[in-house]
Amino acid sequence: MFVNPPAGKNLYHRRKTCRLCGGRRLTLVLGLAPTPPANAFVSRDELDKPQPRFPLDVFFCEDCHHVQLLDVVSPSVLFENYVYVSGTSPSFVAHFESYARGILDQFKPPPGSLVVDIGSNDGTLLRFFQQAGMRVLGVDPARNIAEEATRKGIKTLPAFFSPKLAADIRAEHGAATVITANNVFAHIDDLEGIVEGIRTLLAPDGVFVFEVSYLVDVFEKTLFDTIYHEHLDYHSVKPLIPFFKRLGMELIEAVRVGSHGGSLRGIAQLKGGPRPVGKTVAAAIACEEKLGLDRAETFRRFGQNIAALKAALGKLLRELKAGGKKIAGFGAPAKATTLMYHFETGPELIDFIVDDSPLKQNLFTPGYHVPVLPASAIYERRPDYLLILAWNFAKPLMQAHRAYRDAGGHFIVPIPQLEVH
Ligand SMILES: [Zn+2]
Repeated sequence: MFVNPPAGKNLYHRRKTCRLCGGRRLTLVLGLAPTPPANAFVSRDELDKPQPRFPLDVFFCEDCHHVQLLDVVSPSVLFENYVYVSGTSPSFVAHFESYARGILDQFKPPPGSLVVDIGSNDGTLLRFFQQAGMRVLGVDPARNIAEEATRKGIKTLPAFFSPKLAADIRAEHGAATVITANNVFAHIDDLEGIVEGIRTLLAPDGVFVFEVSYLVDVFEKTLFDTIYHEHLDYHSVKPLIPFFKRLGMELIEAVRVGSHGGSLRGIAQLKGGPRPVGKTVAAAIACEEKLGLDRAETFRRFGQNIAALKAALGKLLRELKAGGKKIAGFGAPAKATTLMYHFETGPELIDFIVDDSPLKQNLFTPGYHVPVLPASAIYERRPDYLLILAWNFAKPLMQAHRAYRDAGGHFIVPIPQLEVH
């Protein structure tokens, strides 16, 4: 079941240079346990098929201080068993509404301006721009999602964004006044190609707006389990400035926002564009320097903290198991794969996992193949302890399942500190 990737197949490659500055002085600062792709849940009839694991090593660039994975797993592997969770939850839609409103209020693009969203998914964000009178165009490589969005009135090209595609869009639709990219800026190995495409497509007074998980949040909130193969980059503001500059662009705003456990919203324009660089950029860099995110040593300490959490949880679970207790998991987000592998909480410790998403129920977790069941299973099977793998939602989950605790069950919260309730 736990095999290394077969040699000779191009399932992944390790790049030799920093994704932002091209530098070669890359230091390993955090070696997490190798895992299969974090979203590769499998069905019962795929249980015999081995799932390869890939290195999950975090590197720090000594030249520009960018934190990144160098092992790039082929998209065909990453998305082979991908459980697609549509982003149409009410909080997600509300986030995009205020996101669009913020851009419209700040930059006041005239009606009819072209807005392009890279990785546009089902077109939720673009719909708000469309309602405000903009021309909109989505780009998303998932053909079924692109077709569905187009059918629902948000024209979406089923393609990867590239300099060539950007030139084609510009030739057909004109230059874009606003280009957005949310949670894609950390997912693409050829980030230079994306920015070259944006520079090609953007109008002289246009803006590029992107949201990515923010390294400051990963560090401050111990979100180490958001490190998995889909997320190649852990962005901070400081390394992005020379990166954009080298590619003919300029970062003009850097604001923290609450989405995805803590994100960075960056805004860039063409170099020499009409807007001054906002105070948010220097403020973000000052915050990053204060935390020491420009030093490899900081991430080594981060790793030691995670190792201490692992040791504490491992001791607790082994003692419980030795005492004959039954343990189950709560929540099967992608990040549970990193947590389970790095903390070695596989099927020998956890009997099953419950998750509220029907898309994941009756599947098995990547690699370890722990069954995922509906939440009702905790009342039917009555495990003595529930390890909360979706620990960032620990409070509402414990609240929602008070009946489990009232009946004598216990919750284990593994991060940011080990707690038993
Ligand atoms: Zn670098």
